[in-house]
Amino acid sequence: MSLLELREAGYSYGTRSVLDSVSLTVDGGDAVGLVGESGAGKSTILRLLLGLAPARSGEVLFDGAPLRLRDRNLMRRFRASVQPVFQDPYSSLDPRQRVDRIVGEPLQSLRLAAGDEARERVREAVTSVGLDPDVLSRYPHEFSGGQRQRIAIARAVVSRPRVLLADEPVSALDVTTRVQVIDLLARLRREHGLALVMVSHDLSAVAAVCDRTVVLRDGRVVEEGPTRRVLSAP
Ligand code: ADP
Ligand code: ADP
Repeated sequence: MSLLELREAGYSYGTRSVLDSVSLTVDGGDAVGLVGESGAGKSTILRLLLGLAPARSGEVLFDGAPLRLRDRNLMRRFRASVQPVFQDPYSSLDPRQRVDRIVGEPLQSLRLAAGDEARERVREAVTSVGLDPDVLSRYPHEFSGGQRQRIAIARAVVSRPRVLLADEPVSALDVTTRVQVIDLLARLRREHGLALVMVSHDLSAVAAVCDRTVVLRDGRVVEEGPTRRVLSAP
């Protein structure tokens, strides 16, 4: 039984079909790359895996059971376990909130911890992404892109999820910072057994982190296998 699975999923925007019978499994500790040209449907797959939209056909399974977006208890457990990391750490962090509020938000909204326990977990999360706890009383605009992406990743891990779904997590960053954030994702996976699904057009980033890679074209999976083999294909 997989942690997260897309089973023959279809999706369309209006009458326009953008995913056609896509199947994808994510097991504990997996690192899966999702690559393909712009418009192939990568972001749409992540939206389905994040429970942000219902598949039009087929299904999304979480721990082997269908994900029911209207089942609040299930979705609360799901959101604690499956967390997103977005491309742009400038627009994904609310500039009016202090970093401690931003990082602690999942604990509050998912009712996982409050008070001292929440403060301790927020502190642990920022430390685990390589930031000094001093950042907690500051605001997002005081930080560089790479530090902001670390803050976003701290928020993503504070609920102690089992999988991170990352959509172009390093594309908005400069080259040096990219390497650091990629190393961080690889380390979180190694140390916490976190599974990763990463959409990226940066193939060196995919090669550095992902054991398995899925290639998407026009809404279909056209290739899947060990990253080394898939990325070296002619
Ligand atoms: P990728 O992430 O691989 O670039 P997307 O999943 O973003 O692909 O998009 C797949 C297709 O769906 C593209 O043709 C895109 O233009 C279209 N699309 C994405 N979002 C919307 C939307 N909200 N409304 C209409 N079409 C969309
Ligand atoms: P990505 O780089 O992740 O593929 P895009 O730049 O394609 O993202 O899309 C950014 C946002 O615009 C997404 O939320 C996507 O759903 C939406 N979008 C993409 N294509 C269309 C479209 N043809 N019509 C409406 N919204 C779209």
